Amino acid sequence: MIIPFFIPHAGCPHQCVFCDQKRITGKKSAVHPASVPATIRSFLAAKASDGHQEAGIQAAERPRDVQVAFYGGSFTALPPELQQAYLREVRPFLDAGEVRSIRISTRPDRITPGVLALLRKHQVATVELGVQSLDNDVLHHSGRGHTSEHTVAATRLLREQGFLIGYQLMPGLPKDSRTRFRETVIRTVELGPDMVRIYPVLVIRDTPLEKLFHDGVYAPLAREDAVAWCAEAQEQFEAAGIDVIRIGLQHTETLARPGTVVAGPYHPAFGQLVASSRFLKLMTSVLADITPGSDAVLRVHPADLSTALGQKKRNIPILLGRTKARKIVVRTDAAVPRGTVTLDMTLDHTCINPLFGI
Ligand code: SF4
Repeated sequence: MIIPFFIPHAGCPHQCVFCDQKRITGKKSAVHPASVPATIRSFLAAKASDGHQEAGIQAAERPRDVQVAFYGGSFTALPPELQQAYLREVRPFLDAGEVRSIRISTRPDRITPGVLALLRKHQVATVELGVQSLDNDVLHHSGRGHTSEHTVAATRLLREQGFLIGYQLMPGLPKDSRTRFRETVIRTVELGPDMVRIYPVLVIRDTPLEKLFHDGVYAPLAREDAVAWCAEAQEQFEAAGIDVIRIGLQHTETLARPGTVVAGPYHPAFGQLVASSRFLKLMTSVLADITPGSDAVLRVHPADLSTALGQKKRNIPILLGRTKARKIVVRTDAAVPRGTVTLDMTLDHTCINPLFGI
């Protein structure tokens, strides 16, 4: 469980063209350090009461999983006294074993040995970097104010000091392209963070990107393209052992409010769209060799059924068109590993069974 605290734009040296943390997070101002303990206590109380309802798991065993996170700004660009003020409020919970560790998010150009010493002293375990892209032209046109070299240097320092490293990537920034994003994915795999988040760019109201969009200078990714880019990236990260911990922005009331997202591949369950597209690819390859006109039975884990079928079960007609099967049935089977598909059987209606003379 992550207990999130939002510090929208706190510490940011300037405005990146795509960003409005207040609209994205739904939080108007940074949390005050003094209010941190009460929020942690209320999250822990809610978690403990959930724990009592789960058979066989003692509430006392559960805090090991709890992490406190500071998101939405550039934490390490805050004055050191303010960083410490936030982190000190978490300390009693760490000492009591109620919270396991702390994570923060920040910019790659705000990682120095001194910064990391402060974080280490206060038991910060995970640092998420707003990498966004590893293409310097894309970073420049996105108003990031740092280069890919900052990410390389920050990653090296964080690894030397034993921090867990997260990257946030944003496909579809100004001047980005399929080739450039693929290159960013390849370089990310080489740099080897422990985890990534992938947020396709949205045009948020009142950001500089909105003006670029209305001026015809910037065009966001179509949803289909964003899904395809993210699915391909996720496959490569997983193959490299890098956890993809989120795809698509967290759905919030503010984000869903009409007019907040002016354009772009927004969907409240974007990650689910990506997962469904990956299932479609998997099922297409499983059915590649079946005889046209056959009936096929596919099996998936029960928890994967809706993902495999896709939104409004759209994956089935697409599969029928791709494979020329007569009928495709997807059944659930708890013995099938999550994220996989088994071809149970095919019935070939075009062949004659000589034994029974049918
Ligand atoms: S993207 Fe990060 S650094 Fe840029 S304005 Fe938003 S929170 Fe600040």
